[in-house]
Amino acid sequence: MSMVNHKSKVTSRREFIMSAGLVLAGSMMKLDSLAEATAIKSEPIIDIHQHIHYHSRTDEQLLAHQRAMGITKTILLPAGRPANSASTHQGASNGLEADAGGNAECYCFAKDHKKEFLFGANAVPDAKDAISEIEKYLKLGAVVIGELKFGVDCDAPEMQKIYQLAQAYDVPVLMHWQHKRYNYDFERFYKMLEKYPRVNFIGHAQTWWANIDKNHTDQSVLYPKQSVTPGGITDRYLSDYANMFGDLSAGSGLNALTRDEDHAKDFLERHQDKLIYGSDCEDPGGQAASGCTGALDIAEVRKLSSSKKVERKLLHDNAKKLFKI
Ligand SMILES: [Zn+2]
Ligand SMILES: [Zn+2]
Repeated sequence: MSMVNHKSKVTSRREFIMSAGLVLAGSMMKLDSLAEATAIKSEPIIDIHQHIHYHSRTDEQLLAHQRAMGITKTILLPAGRPANSASTHQGASNGLEADAGGNAECYCFAKDHKKEFLFGANAVPDAKDAISEIEKYLKLGAVVIGELKFGVDCDAPEMQKIYQLAQAYDVPVLMHWQHKRYNYDFERFYKMLEKYPRVNFIGHAQTWWANIDKNHTDQSVLYPKQSVTPGGITDRYLSDYANMFGDLSAGSGLNALTRDEDHAKDFLERHQDKLIYGSDCEDPGGQAASGCTGALDIAEVRKLSSSKKVERKLLHDNAKKLFKI
């Protein structure tokens, strides 16, 4: 008992001195970041979905963005090498259609910021050297293949070669699902889930999230707003297949949580071991107040989780397990 009292006295005195010092220095900013640093220490957050050079964001802004959101570990997902092929819509989808950097850039940045960053491996699937390019970065330590955001059938032979590579290296595969644009024919993807039961697939983006709703019939609608009836394709994939996971990132992930919060509470509860936080936003600041979807997504997960335990799974523990961080 006396130990506890003694400890809390010391802590509060130290806090007082530090606060006073910072106020004297006239820097409320520093006080904010001190509070943030304390929060980060006690509640680490893993962000499984970010990009380097996302549109015009600088490396310094990326670092500041992640730290402002309270992220302790970030996985950078590279683009494939630019190509004029069917899978990149003759070049229109190069750079993940976001000017995102490639394998070498993600690898080098992660190497220079080892404590905070990891990296993935990627290649345009119909490039001749796709497999050797991905394998090169897996050997260097890539923790995921993706973001696979290409105009291909989800069960195309070149995609299956990538799934086989993921199986050989025991890394997950992260896919951007967007109707008639990226990864075609979501409704028959269960065939791949069954054919590759040892590969962990992570679903992301508009078509993935729109299909939480059983009544989502018009697949051309990418950001539906109506209330959700459980039992959509996505809901069933997550329930029926141990190797299917969901990435909560981007406007699509946020929309899935905000469009019907009563449904979202049950959805997070039901799939608490399968859903993983990611940000995938391009803003420089990382502040919810200025519309950072990553920060808003964290706030929404905290708001809708039934317990601290579930919240920690979604923001940290599930990623730690799946990516063996
Ligand atoms: Zn994406
Ligand atoms: Zn952001």
